[in-house]
Amino acid sequence: MTTYSGVGVSAGRVIGHIRRMPTAIVEPSAEHADDPARELDRLQDASDAVHADLQRRALDAADAGHDEARSILEVTAHMAIDPQLAKAAGQFITDGTTAEYAIWKAGDDIAAKLTGLGGYLAERAGDVADVRARIVARLRGDQPPGIPESDTPFILAADDLAPADTAALDPEHVIGIVTSGGGPQSHTAILARAHEIPAAVAVRGADALADGDVVYLDGTAGIVTADPGPGEYARVAEAAAASIPEFDGAGRLADGHPVELLANIGTPDDAEPAASSGAEGIGLFRTEFCFLGRETEPTPEEQAEAYRRVFESFPGRKVVVRTLDAGADKPLPFLTDRTEPNPALGVRGFRTADARADVLRRQLGAVAAARSACPDVDVRVMAPMIATAEEAGAFAELCRDADLPTSGVMIEVPAAALKAESILRAVDFASVGTNDLTQYTMAADRELSALASLSDPWQPAVLRLVADTVEGAGAAGGKPVGVCGEAAADPALAVVLVGLGVSSLSMSRASIRAVSAVLRSIDLSDARRLAADAVEAESAAAGRAAVRVGLPALDTLGL
Ligand code: PEP
Ligand code: MG
Repeated sequence: MTTYSGVGVSAGRVIGHIRRMPTAIVEPSAEHADDPARELDRLQDASDAVHADLQRRALDAADAGHDEARSILEVTAHMAIDPQLAKAAGQFITDGTTAEYAIWKAGDDIAAKLTGLGGYLAERAGDVADVRARIVARLRGDQPPGIPESDTPFILAADDLAPADTAALDPEHVIGIVTSGGGPQSHTAILARAHEIPAAVAVRGADALADGDVVYLDGTAGIVTADPGPGEYARVAEAAAASIPEFDGAGRLADGHPVELLANIGTPDDAEPAASSGAEGIGLFRTEFCFLGRETEPTPEEQAEAYRRVFESFPGRKVVVRTLDAGADKPLPFLTDRTEPNPALGVRGFRTADARADVLRRQLGAVAAARSACPDVDVRVMAPMIATAEEAGAFAELCRDADLPTSGVMIEVPAAALKAESILRAVDFASVGTNDLTQYTMAADRELSALASLSDPWQPAVLRLVADTVEGAGAAGGKPVGVCGEAAADPALAVVLVGLGVSSLSMSRASIRAVSAVLRSIDLSDARRLAADAVEAESAAAGRAAVRVGLPALDTLGL
């Protein structure tokens, strides 16, 4: 029995078999092939096999009623036998290259052409790259790229997952995620929580886990145990039996003190499930997630349609739309410069408006159009990565110009927390993005597993900045401060944030139930006392331990 430890990022305990994420397919070397006829046959066989495999998966998706997946798979299947791709690859083969190199280069050329054409066709460039990688994997006898297929549920082990991989996760098959890389605020962690899949990241030694290994995963403690014994099986059974009450749609403490519990979403498809979870509204709509990987700016009509679909799920409720947070780990090719040496400190978030205010204006216009179609929704907009009061003022003005009366800012940069009073004089509300606030306060890349212990929102320095923000917002006329970073989804930390004066918490819908249950176990005076302990603690670990002792509900609820 070997135990590996990392950072628990999505609660839950499971036991299952490991399936490893295949390593990315890299460009084949330019070797000479002596027998072009044989290479042509190999290529034909591999393309046919990839086509047949994708067609079969499209049929499976259709049977399961997943229409969107079916149509994507069908389009990709056709691309595998696309005559243009085959002709271009055939030419490389005739010139003496291997089938692997030929299809790779042909894929490059076609993807470049599609990108050049822009619009819908540019979107297809990624599909060509995917198909080409699948054909190369087949030629080499390697596993195809992407999440492994399996008829039985498994625990996915990977170095780290790209947002595109996690978006394709099927919780019916992937029952747990273990990564050796990634940090607690990474998008892998965020999406694992959104899919309610227990997960641990930055797990040291997890590289040693192989296909077929049976492991126990505790996504709260961040523990992975290979060859689990009776104790682990008992803990899984215990967690399955512990019942956390359903959320009744009104967040509050035991003494009735209200705490709005809202959901974070990334795309319109997330809105309905968030509404059904009882979320009181949307506290963070990450609009860039609707358009990730897009080479061209979505049209105002397309944007308005996406926003309207979200608003329609929340009649009479609050929806906070965050303007495009492009850059760093979420590049949007039409808005960000991919050659920046240090993108986390680069032109990201609101900073992109310096050179491209037109993009922001069009987005605000689209939000306003969607808002007029749903007049009963309390639509608010907020800007990411605000560092100064001038930026906050400029954003508020753009919102007024777009006829959007309620504007706010995210507090993600320490400078903004320290100057919260003047920043909040310019806008109506603030929402603390603890993921980036932790990254910038601790100078620790949120995606880097080696820095996971610094990348921890329990760090007392981060909590002090939250307290400073609340104080500044109070001095600016009692403006409300929420938290929409992942800290809000940690039930113990949620108590601390409320104790610091935060009035709303926004998180993945899967976390609302547990956060609500723990909040209902304490009074505001307890929360304040625990918050003071956490801010004064010598370390993140000491703060977490002290608060845990003060919250017996965590054990009762199996959290
Ligand atoms: C944050 O930084 O805490 C946040 C909510 O924004 P994102 O995770 O999308 O950067
Ligand atoms: Mg952020």
